[in-house]
Amino acid sequence: MTERAASPDRKILIAILIAVIGGTLAGGFLPSFSRSLAVFGEIFLNLLMMVVVPLVFFSMVTGITNLGDLREFGSIGKRTILYYLVTTSIAVAIGLIMVNLVRPGVGIYHGERRDGAAYSMDVNDPTRVTLSAPLSGTRPSGLRLRLLDQGVAGEIEGVRGREVRVKKWDPAMTPAPTGKGYEVLIARRHDLPGERKGALETLKEVIVGDAQSGREGLIPRNIANAMVRMDILPVIFFSILLGLAFSSLGRKAERAVEIFSLCNDAILKIVDWIMRYAPVGIFALVAERIGRAGGFQGFLPELLAIGKYAGTVTGGLLLHGLLVLPLLLYFIGRRSPWRYLSGSGAPLLNALSTASSSATLPVTIETAERAHGLKNRIAGFVLPLGATINMDGTALYEAVAAIFIAQAYGIQLGVVEQSIVAVTATLAAIGAAGIPEAGLVTMVIVLRAAGLPVEGIGLLLSIDWLLDRLRTTVNVWGDLVGAGIIGTLEERDGATSGE
Ligand code: ASP
Repeated sequence: MTERAASPDRKILIAILIAVIGGTLAGGFLPSFSRSLAVFGEIFLNLLMMVVVPLVFFSMVTGITNLGDLREFGSIGKRTILYYLVTTSIAVAIGLIMVNLVRPGVGIYHGERRDGAAYSMDVNDPTRVTLSAPLSGTRPSGLRLRLLDQGVAGEIEGVRGREVRVKKWDPAMTPAPTGKGYEVLIARRHDLPGERKGALETLKEVIVGDAQSGREGLIPRNIANAMVRMDILPVIFFSILLGLAFSSLGRKAERAVEIFSLCNDAILKIVDWIMRYAPVGIFALVAERIGRAGGFQGFLPELLAIGKYAGTVTGGLLLHGLLVLPLLLYFIGRRSPWRYLSGSGAPLLNALSTASSSATLPVTIETAERAHGLKNRIAGFVLPLGATINMDGTALYEAVAAIFIAQAYGIQLGVVEQSIVAVTATLAAIGAAGIPEAGLVTMVIVLRAAGLPVEGIGLLLSIDWLLDRLRTTVNVWGDLVGAGIIGTLEERDGATSGE
Protein backbone atom coordinates (compact mmCIF):
# COMPACT_ATOMS: atom_id res chain seq x y z
CA MET A 1 0.00 0.00 0.00
CA THR A 2 1.45 3.37 -0.93
CA GLU A 3 1.95 5.88 1.86
CA ARG A 4 0.65 9.36 1.34
CA ALA A 5 1.71 12.57 2.93
CA ALA A 6 -0.66 13.52 5.70
CA SER A 7 -1.36 17.03 4.48
CA PRO A 8 -3.76 16.39 1.54
CA ASP A 9 -5.86 14.20 3.84
CA ARG A 10 -5.92 16.89 6.49
CA LYS A 11 -6.84 19.52 3.93
CA ILE A 12 -9.74 17.41 2.70
CA LEU A 13 -10.86 16.73 6.25
CA ILE A 14 -10.88 20.42 7.10
CA ALA A 15 -12.75 21.14 3.87
CA ILE A 16 -15.33 18.48 4.77
CA LEU A 17 -15.77 19.96 8.23
CA ILE A 18 -16.33 23.39 6.74
CA ALA A 19 -18.74 21.82 4.24
CA VAL A 20 -20.84 20.28 7.03
CA ILE A 21 -21.01 23.56 8.96
CA GLY A 22 -21.56 25.64 5.80
CA GLY A 23 -24.20 23.21 4.54
CA THR A 24 -26.04 23.38 7.86
CA LEU A 25 -26.10 27.17 7.79
CA ALA A 26 -27.06 27.34 4.12
CA GLY A 27 -29.84 24.79 4.54
CA GLY A 28 -31.02 26.44 7.74
CA PHE A 29 -31.21 29.99 6.47
CA LEU A 30 -31.69 29.57 2.71
CA PRO A 31 -33.89 26.49 2.42
CA SER A 32 -35.20 27.00 -1.09
CA PHE A 33 -31.78 27.84 -2.56
CA SER A 34 -30.32 24.82 -0.79
CA ARG A 35 -32.90 22.49 -2.23
CA SER A 36 -31.71 23.44 -5.69
CA LEU A 37 -28.26 22.03 -4.89
CA ALA A 38 -29.57 18.46 -4.75
CA VAL A 39 -27.80 17.31 -7.90
CA PHE A 40 -24.32 17.98 -6.48
CA GLY A 41 -25.09 15.74 -3.53
CA GLU A 42 -26.46 13.06 -5.80
CA ILE A 43 -23.31 13.08 -7.90
CA PHE A 44 -21.28 12.43 -4.75
CA LEU A 45 -23.59 9.65 -3.56
CA ASN A 46 -23.52 8.02 -6.98
CA LEU A 47 -19.74 8.11 -7.06
CA LEU A 48 -19.55 6.40 -3.68
CA MET A 49 -22.19 3.82 -4.49
CA MET A 50 -20.44 3.12 -7.77
CA VAL A 51 -17.37 1.76 -5.99
CA VAL A 52 -19.05 -0.10 -3.11
CA VAL A 53 -19.58 -3.46 -4.82
CA PRO A 54 -16.20 -3.65 -6.61
CA LEU A 55 -14.45 -2.53 -3.45
CA VAL A 56 -16.13 -5.11 -1.24
CA PHE A 57 -15.47 -7.79 -3.84
CA PHE A 58 -11.80 -7.04 -4.47
CA SER A 59 -10.85 -6.14 -0.92
CA MET A 60 -12.54 -9.22 0.53
CA VAL A 61 -10.93 -11.62 -1.94
CA THR A 62 -7.54 -9.96 -1.45
CA GLY A 63 -7.96 -9.99 2.32
CA ILE A 64 -8.77 -13.68 2.40
CA THR A 65 -5.91 -14.65 0.10
CA ASN A 66 -3.57 -12.63 2.33
CA LEU A 67 -4.39 -14.77 5.33
CA GLY A 68 -1.60 -16.96 6.58
CA ASP A 69 -3.83 -19.97 6.95
CA LEU A 70 -7.42 -20.89 7.45
CA ARG A 71 -7.21 -20.82 11.22
CA GLU A 72 -6.52 -17.12 10.99
CA PHE A 73 -9.78 -16.65 9.10
CA GLY A 74 -11.60 -18.56 11.83
CA SER A 75 -10.02 -16.42 14.50
CA ILE A 76 -10.86 -13.11 12.79
CA GLY A 77 -14.36 -14.34 12.06
CA LYS A 78 -15.02 -15.41 15.64
CA ARG A 79 -13.65 -12.22 17.11
CA THR A 80 -15.63 -10.11 14.67
CA ILE A 81 -18.94 -11.79 15.50
CA LEU A 82 -18.21 -11.64 19.23
CA TYR A 83 -17.36 -7.95 18.98
CA TYR A 84 -20.55 -7.20 17.04
CA LEU A 85 -22.71 -9.06 19.54
CA VAL A 86 -21.14 -7.54 22.63
CA THR A 87 -21.17 -3.94 21.41
CA THR A 88 -24.67 -4.14 19.95
CA SER A 89 -25.96 -5.57 23.23
CA ILE A 90 -24.28 -2.79 25.21
CA ALA A 91 -25.84 -0.23 22.86
CA VAL A 92 -29.31 -1.72 23.35
CA ALA A 93 -28.81 -1.80 27.12
CA ILE A 94 -27.79 1.88 27.14
CA GLY A 95 -30.88 2.72 25.07
CA LEU A 96 -33.19 0.81 27.42
CA ILE A 97 -31.72 2.33 30.57
CA MET A 98 -31.85 5.87 29.19
CA VAL A 99 -35.40 5.65 27.89
CA ASN A 100 -36.65 4.16 31.16
CA LEU A 101 -34.93 6.89 33.15
CA VAL A 102 -35.89 9.87 30.98
CA ARG A 103 -39.36 8.58 30.01
CA PRO A 104 -39.58 10.85 26.95
CA GLY A 105 -42.84 9.34 25.72
CA VAL A 106 -44.95 10.21 28.76
CA GLY A 107 -47.45 12.92 27.84
CA ILE A 108 -46.90 12.73 24.09
CA TYR A 109 -50.16 13.05 22.18
CA HIS A 110 -50.76 10.09 19.89
CA GLY A 111 -54.09 10.77 18.28
CA GLU A 112 -57.65 9.85 19.22
CA ARG A 113 -60.95 8.74 17.78
CA ARG A 114 -64.23 10.09 19.13
CA ASP A 115 -67.08 8.44 17.32
CA GLY A 116 -70.11 10.30 18.59
CA ALA A 117 -68.43 13.58 19.60
CA ALA A 118 -69.83 16.78 18.11
CA TYR A 119 -67.75 19.32 16.25
CA SER A 120 -68.55 22.60 14.56
CA MET A 121 -66.97 24.82 11.97
CA ASP A 122 -66.45 28.53 11.64
CA VAL A 123 -69.10 29.61 9.12
CA ASN A 124 -66.77 32.09 7.42
CA ASP A 125 -63.75 29.84 7.45
CA PRO A 126 -64.49 26.10 7.14
CA THR A 127 -60.86 25.22 7.91
CA ARG A 128 -61.40 26.22 11.56
CA VAL A 129 -63.02 23.43 13.52
CA THR A 130 -64.03 23.40 17.15
CA LEU A 131 -63.79 19.93 18.67
CA SER A 132 -65.61 18.57 21.68
CA ALA A 133 -62.42 18.35 23.73
CA PRO A 134 -58.94 19.91 23.54
CA LEU A 135 -56.02 17.91 22.17
CA SER A 136 -54.05 17.28 25.31
CA GLY A 137 -50.33 16.54 25.67
CA THR A 138 -47.25 17.42 23.63
CA ARG A 139 -48.18 17.21 19.99
CA PRO A 140 -45.88 15.81 17.32
CA SER A 141 -46.04 17.44 13.91
CA GLY A 142 -47.97 16.05 10.95
CA LEU A 143 -51.32 15.44 12.71
CA ARG A 144 -54.40 15.01 10.52
CA LEU A 145 -58.03 15.60 11.37
CA ARG A 146 -60.67 13.36 9.82
CA LEU A 147 -64.36 14.11 10.06
CA LEU A 148 -65.83 10.65 10.27
CA ASP A 149 -69.38 11.50 9.22
CA GLN A 150 -68.36 13.64 6.23
CA GLY A 151 -65.42 11.61 4.93
CA VAL A 152 -63.01 14.56 4.66
CA ALA A 153 -59.59 15.00 6.19
CA GLY A 154 -56.96 17.70 6.43
CA GLU A 155 -53.52 18.30 7.81
CA ILE A 156 -53.62 20.19 11.10
CA GLU A 157 -51.81 23.50 10.88
CA GLY A 158 -52.46 24.95 14.30
CA VAL A 159 -54.24 24.14 17.53
CA ARG A 160 -55.58 26.46 20.19
CA GLY A 161 -57.47 24.73 22.97
CA ARG A 162 -60.42 23.01 21.33
CA GLU A 163 -60.00 24.93 18.07
CA VAL A 164 -58.10 23.21 15.30
CA ARG A 165 -57.08 24.78 12.00
CA VAL A 166 -56.48 22.53 8.99
CA LYS A 167 -54.57 23.53 5.85
CA LYS A 168 -57.30 22.42 3.46
CA TRP A 169 -59.88 19.70 3.20
CA ASP A 170 -59.23 16.65 1.13
CA PRO A 171 -61.19 15.90 -1.02
CA ALA A 172 -61.65 19.59 -1.70
CA MET A 173 -65.15 20.63 -0.61
CA THR A 174 -66.87 22.76 1.94
CA PRO A 175 -68.01 20.44 4.74
CA ALA A 176 -71.27 20.94 6.58
CA PRO A 177 -70.71 23.33 9.52
CA THR A 178 -71.60 20.81 12.21
CA GLY A 179 -71.33 17.07 12.58
CA LYS A 180 -70.55 14.16 14.82
CA GLY A 181 -67.51 11.92 15.03
CA TYR A 182 -63.91 12.82 14.34
CA GLU A 183 -60.49 11.28 14.45
CA VAL A 184 -57.06 12.83 14.94
CA LEU A 185 -54.36 10.75 13.26
CA ILE A 186 -50.62 10.92 13.72
CA ALA A 187 -48.51 11.15 10.56
CA ARG A 188 -48.24 7.89 8.75
CA ARG A 189 -45.80 7.03 6.04
CA HIS A 190 -47.72 4.73 3.79
CA ASP A 191 -46.41 1.48 2.47
CA LEU A 192 -43.44 1.03 4.73
CA PRO A 193 -41.82 -1.89 2.91
CA GLY A 194 -41.39 -5.09 4.86
CA GLU A 195 -44.15 -4.01 7.18
CA ARG A 196 -45.69 -7.39 7.45
CA LYS A 197 -42.54 -9.24 8.41
CA GLY A 198 -41.80 -10.63 11.84
CA ALA A 199 -38.40 -11.05 13.49
CA LEU A 200 -37.85 -14.64 12.39
CA GLU A 201 -38.94 -13.95 8.85
CA THR A 202 -36.53 -11.02 8.64
CA LEU A 203 -33.69 -13.15 9.96
CA LYS A 204 -34.53 -15.81 7.40
CA GLU A 205 -34.48 -13.15 4.70
CA VAL A 206 -31.04 -11.99 5.84
CA ILE A 207 -29.80 -15.56 5.34
CA VAL A 208 -31.54 -16.81 2.21
CA GLY A 209 -33.07 -13.70 0.69
CA ASP A 210 -36.57 -13.15 -0.57
CA ALA A 211 -37.43 -14.58 -3.97
CA GLN A 212 -40.47 -12.35 -4.32
CA SER A 213 -38.72 -9.02 -3.91
CA GLY A 214 -35.52 -10.32 -5.53
CA ARG A 215 -33.47 -9.49 -2.44
CA GLU A 216 -30.50 -11.81 -2.08
CA GLY A 217 -29.52 -13.11 1.35
CA LEU A 218 -26.18 -14.11 2.83
CA ILE A 219 -26.27 -17.23 0.69
CA PRO A 220 -27.28 -15.90 -2.71
CA ARG A 221 -28.95 -17.75 -5.52
CA ASN A 222 -27.56 -15.34 -8.09
CA ILE A 223 -24.39 -13.45 -7.31
CA ALA A 224 -24.77 -11.15 -10.31
CA ASN A 225 -28.22 -10.16 -9.06
CA ALA A 226 -26.76 -9.48 -5.62
CA MET A 227 -24.17 -7.20 -7.17
CA VAL A 228 -26.73 -5.41 -9.31
CA ARG A 229 -28.98 -4.86 -6.30
CA MET A 230 -26.03 -3.91 -4.13
CA ASP A 231 -26.91 -6.54 -1.54
CA ILE A 232 -23.59 -6.58 0.25
CA LEU A 233 -23.91 -9.67 2.43
CA PRO A 234 -24.05 -12.17 -0.45
CA VAL A 235 -21.16 -10.39 -2.17
CA ILE A 236 -19.15 -10.87 1.03
CA PHE A 237 -20.07 -14.55 1.17
CA PHE A 238 -19.12 -15.19 -2.44
CA SER A 239 -15.87 -13.22 -2.09
CA ILE A 240 -14.85 -15.26 0.95
CA LEU A 241 -15.44 -18.47 -0.98
CA LEU A 242 -13.51 -17.21 -3.99
CA GLY A 243 -10.64 -16.05 -1.77
CA LEU A 244 -10.53 -19.42 -0.03
CA ALA A 245 -10.64 -21.20 -3.38
CA PHE A 246 -7.71 -19.13 -4.70
CA SER A 247 -5.77 -19.93 -1.56
CA SER A 248 -6.42 -23.63 -1.89
CA LEU A 249 -5.24 -23.58 -5.52
CA GLY A 250 -1.85 -22.41 -4.23
CA ARG A 251 0.77 -21.23 -6.70
CA LYS A 252 -1.48 -21.81 -9.70
CA ALA A 253 -3.65 -18.89 -8.54
CA GLU A 254 -0.80 -16.48 -7.83
CA ARG A 255 -1.40 -14.32 -10.88
CA ALA A 256 -5.11 -14.08 -10.28
CA VAL A 257 -4.47 -13.06 -6.69
CA GLU A 258 -2.07 -10.40 -7.84
CA ILE A 259 -4.63 -9.01 -10.27
CA PHE A 260 -7.27 -8.87 -7.54
CA SER A 261 -4.85 -7.10 -5.27
CA LEU A 262 -4.06 -4.56 -7.98
CA CYS A 263 -7.75 -4.03 -8.67
CA ASN A 264 -8.22 -3.40 -4.97
CA ASP A 265 -5.49 -0.76 -4.98
CA ALA A 266 -6.97 0.82 -8.09
CA ILE A 267 -10.42 1.08 -6.54
CA LEU A 268 -8.91 2.67 -3.44
CA LYS A 269 -7.23 5.15 -5.76
CA ILE A 270 -10.62 5.98 -7.24
CA VAL A 271 -11.95 6.48 -3.70
CA ASP A 272 -9.10 8.88 -3.18
CA TRP A 273 -10.18 10.88 -6.20
CA ILE A 274 -13.81 10.82 -5.13
CA MET A 275 -12.80 12.26 -1.78
CA ARG A 276 -11.49 15.34 -3.51
CA TYR A 277 -15.05 16.05 -4.54
CA ALA A 278 -16.38 15.16 -1.06
CA PRO A 279 -16.50 18.72 0.33
CA VAL A 280 -18.75 19.87 -2.53
CA GLY A 281 -20.95 16.79 -2.32
CA ILE A 282 -21.23 16.91 1.45
CA PHE A 283 -22.04 20.61 1.45
CA ALA A 284 -24.86 19.97 -1.02
CA LEU A 285 -26.18 16.89 0.81
CA VAL A 286 -26.39 18.62 4.17
CA ALA A 287 -27.79 21.89 2.79
CA GLU A 288 -30.38 20.12 0.65
CA ARG A 289 -31.64 17.92 3.49
CA ILE A 290 -32.02 20.76 5.95
CA GLY A 291 -33.56 22.85 3.18
CA ARG A 292 -36.06 20.08 2.49
CA ALA A 293 -37.01 20.05 6.16
CA GLY A 294 -37.91 23.72 5.73
CA GLY A 295 -34.71 25.22 7.14
CA PHE A 296 -34.24 25.99 10.83
CA GLN A 297 -37.68 27.59 10.94
CA GLY A 298 -39.25 24.47 9.56
CA PHE A 299 -37.64 21.76 11.60
CA LEU A 300 -36.68 23.29 14.92
CA PRO A 301 -40.31 23.33 16.14
CA GLU A 302 -40.60 19.65 15.16
CA LEU A 303 -37.41 18.88 16.99
CA LEU A 304 -38.64 20.68 20.09
CA ALA A 305 -42.00 18.89 20.04
CA ILE A 306 -40.36 15.55 20.57
CA GLY A 307 -37.10 17.00 21.83
CA LYS A 308 -36.97 14.76 24.88
CA TYR A 309 -37.07 11.69 22.65
CA ALA A 310 -34.46 13.11 20.27
CA GLY A 311 -32.35 14.05 23.30
CA THR A 312 -32.61 10.54 24.73
CA VAL A 313 -31.49 8.93 21.47
CA THR A 314 -28.70 11.47 21.02
CA GLY A 315 -27.54 11.15 24.63
CA GLY A 316 -27.44 7.37 24.33
CA LEU A 317 -25.51 7.58 21.07
CA LEU A 318 -22.99 9.98 22.59
CA LEU A 319 -22.53 7.74 25.62
CA HIS A 320 -21.95 4.72 23.45
CA GLY A 321 -19.81 6.46 20.85
CA LEU A 322 -17.73 8.65 23.13
CA LEU A 323 -17.43 6.50 26.22
CA VAL A 324 -18.12 2.79 25.70
CA LEU A 325 -16.44 2.31 22.33
CA PRO A 326 -13.37 4.43 23.20
CA LEU A 327 -12.92 2.47 26.45
CA LEU A 328 -13.03 -0.81 24.53
CA LEU A 329 -10.60 0.61 22.00
CA TYR A 330 -8.27 1.73 24.73
CA PHE A 331 -8.33 -1.31 26.98
CA ILE A 332 -8.72 -4.11 24.46
CA GLY A 333 -7.50 -2.44 21.27
CA ARG A 334 -4.61 -0.70 23.02
CA ARG A 335 -5.01 2.36 20.83
CA SER A 336 -5.38 6.01 21.69
CA PRO A 337 -9.13 6.71 21.26
CA TRP A 338 -8.53 10.39 20.60
CA ARG A 339 -6.01 9.77 17.85
CA TYR A 340 -8.22 7.08 16.36
CA LEU A 341 -11.27 9.34 16.47
CA SER A 342 -9.55 12.34 14.94
CA GLY A 343 -8.07 10.12 12.24
CA SER A 344 -11.59 8.86 11.44
CA GLY A 345 -13.04 12.28 10.69
CA ALA A 346 -13.64 11.68 6.99
CA PRO A 347 -15.79 8.53 7.29
CA LEU A 348 -17.66 9.84 10.33
CA LEU A 349 -18.57 13.14 8.68
CA ASN A 350 -19.42 11.23 5.54
CA ALA A 351 -21.79 9.02 7.53
CA LEU A 352 -23.31 12.09 9.12
CA SER A 353 -24.03 13.65 5.76
CA THR A 354 -25.11 10.61 3.76
CA ALA A 355 -27.00 8.67 6.49
CA SER A 356 -25.73 5.51 4.85
CA SER A 357 -23.14 3.05 6.17
CA SER A 358 -22.94 1.39 2.75
CA ALA A 359 -22.27 4.63 0.88
CA THR A 360 -19.64 5.47 3.49
CA LEU A 361 -17.97 2.07 3.26
CA PRO A 362 -15.37 3.05 0.64
CA VAL A 363 -14.23 5.95 2.82
CA THR A 364 -14.27 3.76 5.94
CA ILE A 365 -12.05 1.13 4.32
CA GLU A 366 -9.70 3.71 2.89
CA THR A 367 -9.31 5.41 6.27
CA ALA A 368 -8.83 2.15 8.16
CA GLU A 369 -6.06 1.05 5.83
CA ARG A 370 -4.34 4.35 5.14
CA ALA A 371 -4.85 6.45 8.25
CA HIS A 372 -4.88 3.68 10.84
CA GLY A 373 -2.56 1.30 9.03
CA LEU A 374 -4.88 -1.68 9.43
CA LYS A 375 -4.09 -4.69 7.29
CA ASN A 376 -6.32 -5.25 4.33
CA ARG A 377 -7.32 -8.68 5.60
CA ILE A 378 -8.75 -7.07 8.75
CA ALA A 379 -10.29 -3.93 7.24
CA GLY A 380 -11.47 -5.79 4.13
CA PHE A 381 -13.37 -8.26 6.27
CA VAL A 382 -14.55 -6.47 9.41
CA LEU A 383 -15.73 -3.26 7.73
CA PRO A 384 -17.94 -4.54 4.87
CA LEU A 385 -19.55 -7.06 7.20
CA GLY A 386 -19.92 -4.38 9.85
CA ALA A 387 -21.53 -1.92 7.44
CA THR A 388 -24.32 -4.41 6.84
CA ILE A 389 -24.84 -6.15 10.16
CA ASN A 390 -23.07 -4.25 12.94
CA MET A 391 -25.26 -1.27 13.76
CA ASP A 392 -24.88 -0.15 17.35
CA GLY A 393 -26.52 3.20 16.72
CA THR A 394 -29.51 1.65 14.99
CA ALA A 395 -29.98 -0.95 17.74
CA LEU A 396 -29.89 1.73 20.42
CA TYR A 397 -32.36 3.87 18.50
CA GLU A 398 -34.76 0.96 17.92
CA ALA A 399 -34.84 0.18 21.63
CA VAL A 400 -35.43 3.81 22.64
CA ALA A 401 -38.05 4.38 19.95
CA ALA A 402 -40.06 1.27 20.79
CA ILE A 403 -40.24 2.10 24.50
CA PHE A 404 -40.95 5.75 23.64
CA ILE A 405 -43.99 4.62 21.66
CA ALA A 406 -45.11 2.38 24.53
CA GLN A 407 -44.84 5.31 26.92
CA ALA A 408 -46.78 7.63 24.60
CA TYR A 409 -49.61 5.11 24.39
CA GLY A 410 -49.52 4.51 28.13
CA ILE A 411 -48.58 0.85 27.71
CA GLN A 412 -46.63 -0.58 30.63
CA LEU A 413 -43.86 -2.93 29.60
CA GLY A 414 -42.57 -5.49 32.09
CA VAL A 415 -39.19 -7.18 32.15
CA VAL A 416 -40.29 -9.82 29.65
CA GLU A 417 -41.58 -7.29 27.12
CA GLN A 418 -38.49 -5.13 27.53
CA SER A 419 -36.34 -8.20 26.92
CA ILE A 420 -38.31 -8.89 23.76
CA VAL A 421 -37.60 -5.31 22.71
CA ALA A 422 -33.90 -5.82 23.44
CA VAL A 423 -33.62 -9.00 21.38
CA THR A 424 -35.71 -7.78 18.47
CA ALA A 425 -33.94 -4.39 18.41
CA THR A 426 -30.71 -6.29 17.89
CA LEU A 427 -32.27 -8.39 15.12
CA ALA A 428 -33.84 -5.32 13.55
CA ALA A 429 -30.43 -3.62 13.49
CA ILE A 430 -28.85 -6.67 11.88
CA GLY A 431 -31.67 -6.80 9.33
CA ALA A 432 -31.48 -3.09 8.48
CA ALA A 433 -29.57 -2.33 5.29
CA GLY A 434 -26.89 0.35 5.43
CA ILE A 435 -29.10 2.87 3.67
CA PRO A 436 -30.98 5.96 4.87
CA GLU A 437 -33.85 5.30 7.26
CA ALA A 438 -33.62 1.54 6.98
CA GLY A 439 -33.90 1.40 10.75
CA LEU A 440 -37.27 3.09 10.66
CA VAL A 441 -38.57 0.30 8.46
CA THR A 442 -37.21 -2.54 10.59
CA MET A 443 -38.71 -0.79 13.64
CA VAL A 444 -41.93 -2.56 12.71
CA ILE A 445 -40.33 -5.87 13.70
CA VAL A 446 -39.73 -4.64 17.23
CA LEU A 447 -43.17 -3.13 17.61
CA ARG A 448 -44.95 -6.24 16.38
CA ALA A 449 -42.91 -8.58 18.54
CA ALA A 450 -43.56 -6.50 21.66
CA GLY A 451 -47.24 -6.06 20.81
CA LEU A 452 -46.95 -2.29 20.45
CA PRO A 453 -49.03 -0.18 18.03
CA VAL A 454 -47.26 -0.01 14.68
CA GLU A 455 -48.91 3.32 13.86
CA GLY A 456 -46.80 4.75 16.69
CA ILE A 457 -44.04 5.02 14.08
CA GLY A 458 -45.89 8.14 13.01
CA LEU A 459 -44.55 9.83 16.14
CA LEU A 460 -40.98 9.35 14.96
CA LEU A 461 -41.27 10.42 11.34
CA SER A 462 -40.77 14.15 11.52
CA ILE A 463 -37.17 14.11 12.71
CA ASP A 464 -36.05 10.64 11.77
CA TRP A 465 -33.90 12.05 8.99
CA LEU A 466 -31.81 13.81 11.63
CA LEU A 467 -31.54 10.92 14.10
CA ASP A 468 -30.73 8.65 11.16
CA ARG A 469 -27.58 10.64 10.51
CA LEU A 470 -26.49 10.48 14.11
CA ARG A 471 -27.06 6.75 14.45
CA THR A 472 -25.33 6.06 11.13
CA THR A 473 -22.27 7.93 12.42
CA VAL A 474 -22.20 5.67 15.49
CA ASN A 475 -22.74 2.61 13.27
CA VAL A 476 -19.67 3.49 11.23
CA TRP A 477 -17.65 4.41 14.32
CA GLY A 478 -18.54 1.02 15.84
CA ASP A 479 -17.21 -0.72 12.72
CA LEU A 480 -13.98 1.26 12.77
CA VAL A 481 -13.40 0.61 16.47
CA GLY A 482 -14.07 -3.08 15.84
CA ALA A 483 -11.50 -3.17 13.06
CA GLY A 484 -9.00 -1.44 15.35
CA ILE A 485 -9.57 -3.87 18.21
CA ILE A 486 -9.50 -6.99 16.06
CA GLY A 487 -6.42 -5.68 14.25
CA THR A 488 -4.59 -5.35 17.56
CA LEU A 489 -5.67 -8.76 18.83
CA GLU A 490 -4.64 -10.48 15.61
CA GLU A 491 -1.32 -8.68 15.64
CA ARG A 492 -0.77 -9.68 19.25
CA ASP A 493 -1.33 -13.29 18.28
CA GLY A 494 1.48 -12.89 15.79
CA ALA A 495 -0.79 -13.59 12.90
CA THR A 496 0.19 -10.61 10.84
CA SER A 497 2.91 -11.96 8.64
CA GLY A 498 2.47 -12.31 4.92
CA GLU A 499 0.96 -9.08 3.55
N1 ASP B 1 -28.99 4.64 7.93
C1 ASP B 1 -28.44 3.64 8.80
C2 ASP B 1 -27.13 3.14 8.23
O1 ASP B 1 -26.89 3.22 7.06
C3 ASP B 1 -29.36 2.51 9.04
C4 ASP B 1 -30.54 3.01 9.82
O2 ASP B 1 -31.49 3.51 9.23
O3 ASP B 1 -30.52 2.93 11.04
O4 ASP B 1 -26.29 2.69 8.97
